Amino acid sequence: MGKAPGPVSAWVGLGSNLDRPRQQLERAFVGLARLPGTRLVARSPLYHSPPMGPPDQPDYVNAVAMLETGLDPHRLLAALQEIETAHGRRRERRWGPRTLDLDLLLYGDRVIRTPELTVPHPGLTRRAFVLYPLRDLAPDLMVPGAGPVRGLADACADPAVVPLRESGSDGGKEPTRL
Ligand code: ATP
Ligand code: MG
Ligand code: MG
Repeated sequence: MGKAPGPVSAWVGLGSNLDRPRQQLERAFVGLARLPGTRLVARSPLYHSPPMGPPDQPDYVNAVAMLETGLDPHRLLAALQEIETAHGRRRERRWGPRTLDLDLLLYGDRVIRTPELTVPHPGLTRRAFVLYPLRDLAPDLMVPGAGPVRGLADACADPAVVPLRESGSDGGKEPTRL
């Protein structure tokens, strides 16, 4: 009999560019903290970034959350999609504007390739708006097949991705351990 697997560290990328993006992210952190069998361990500072897809859309607010979860990766993806739906997410154009995007970036050191789930997230190693907040939380974290987060973030310097100005309680520069 194998030992029951313990909780796994999972990393989620958050993004929003519609309907008060900061509030979308604040509510999304609450939703993540309430997932069954899951603890929200830390949340990164918020970042401001230009759209990656079609340019005729508002800029984004991005962040990363660290979870400890007993959910398996597919259950976790389904739970993330339920939170997106609760935020009124509609899927229209590829990389078009959205109220909330929750991407599963990393799930422990697992490599997963199924039709509905790829982990590490395929954009992770190229996207400053993911790597900067991830570096704030875990610079030494190893991305399977790609190396430590710090090196990946340094290699994809993007001056357009900047910490959100502190004009509220949610734009602090330091990561928050919860
Ligand atoms: P991108 O994935 O390039 O950031 P996106 O986030 O806009 O684009 P979505 O419309 O949110 O894309 O998701 C499209 C599909 O991607 C989902 O239906 C989901 O099954 C699939 N998917 C595969 N791997 C992942 C992952 N690691 N995290 C989230 N969704 C994933
Ligand atoms: Mg995405
Ligand atoms: Mg997505």
